[in-house]
Amino acid sequence: MDTLLLKVVFTVFWLGAFLIRYPFAQKQKKNLIKSDRKTGEEKILLACATLGMVLLPMLYVFTPLFSFANYQLPVFLNLIGIALTVPTLWLFYRSHKDLGRNWSPTLEIREEHQIVDWGVYKHIRHPMYTAIWLWVILQALLLPNYISGLSGLVGFGLLYALRVNKEEAMMLEQFGKPYAAYRTKTTRLIPFIF
Ligand code: SAH
Repeated sequence: MDTLLLKVVFTVFWLGAFLIRYPFAQKQKKNLIKSDRKTGEEKILLACATLGMVLLPMLYVFTPLFSFANYQLPVFLNLIGIALTVPTLWLFYRSHKDLGRNWSPTLEIREEHQIVDWGVYKHIRHPMYTAIWLWVILQALLLPNYISGLSGLVGFGLLYALRVNKEEAMMLEQFGKPYAAYRTKTTRLIPFIF
């Protein structure tokens, strides 16, 4: 499929995700933090995810820097990438909306933090991470480039792998039994399956 078209689709998706997050990011700055777990490791992981999901894909879209690492993908995979954009943005939006004032870009407990177990949190514990997994998968399907297509999977994959257990341990420590009960009723990323 025409790489210019794929670049346009990815860039519109990417801008959509930023527009969705922006108002929540502004609002969450006002919510007081009770417990901050932002370690040095967490800062490095956030930087890796930003590199893989922001800097490297945008360098591919707007400069010829990585053209030596281009390859071809079958059209049906490009089409799956395009089809994933709208459900991914929907889930990204819903998870921000349902988490509301409890959302943090990093590991933190806010004043008056409460367990969200409704909406898209009813059956899965990490719908925002599900949306971001879909994001980095569609990045790989829309940008056929060994560096910028795969960098999201690597950057976010590292953040996810090293964060998710710590996040659940933090929630358990903070909320005890109610979070343990919520854990038994939900799966991590894919409803009823995983
Ligand atoms: N892992 C969740 C949330 C990501 S944002 C998801 O993928 O949807 C990370 C912050 O959300 C953490 O710092 C934690 O304080 C908060 N958090 C995670 N799960 C929560 C829940 N079920 N209810 C309330 N806050 C939660």
